[in-house]
Amino acid sequence: MRECGRKVRVAIKAMADALAPDMSTAELDAICEDALAAEKARPSFKGYRGFPAAACISVNDEVVHGIPGPRLLVEGDVVTLDVGAFFEGFHGDAAWTYVVGEPDETATRLLNVTRESLNQGVAQAKAGNTVGDIAYAVQSYVERNGFSVVRDLVGHGIGRNLHEEPSVPNFGRRGSGPKLKAGMTLCIEPMINEGKYHVHCLDDHWTIVTQDGKRSAHFEHMVLVTEGAPDILTPVI
Ligand code: MG
Repeated sequence: MRECGRKVRVAIKAMADALAPDMSTAELDAICEDALAAEKARPSFKGYRGFPAAACISVNDEVVHGIPGPRLLVEGDVVTLDVGAFFEGFHGDAAWTYVVGEPDETATRLLNVTRESLNQGVAQAKAGNTVGDIAYAVQSYVERNGFSVVRDLVGHGIGRNLHEEPSVPNFGRRGSGPKLKAGMTLCIEPMINEGKYHVHCLDDHWTIVTQDGKRSAHFEHMVLVTEGAPDILTPVI
């Protein structure tokens, strides 16, 4: 799974390096597909419940599950790249948010707070803690910083299947939920909105957007729970 995680990062990096105004999200997706093919991995998302592309690419008010297409990126767009890689029987999964060109002040803060909320959540992924400890760490950090936590989507266990038990919400009470054990692999993935937390799904049955039209960011790590420090299987390269 560490190898799957590395392959996911290779694909995300290839897309991130190519991000530029006037590039379409479909072009980015092709870069992802090529990067995974070069790594002899299959895109986990393609065909998953009928999802038509290798990557989920979500722009601005799109929270997650954006479908790549003809949309052209413009300077200042907030773009989330979410990738899964299937290799030798296991899945890897991670997401990272970038800005095309120069970010405005709020975008910079939204990305910093969301990335740091992921770090806060990951730090709780230790044997003996509970899923609620991760959830509480993410939520309390985000709300202290004036942004909101999406309720309708959550992180998950991962392994031979892309989504496994337990669900890993980004909001909740300390000490609640399933207990974490060494050997568990979790995807911790705060989805954080600039405005209110409410979201809805577009008519394409995939794209989740904010209700108020404000922007959203999403950072995801796949993490191995151990008796000691959490082991991040999708380190940034
Ligand atoms: Mg995930």
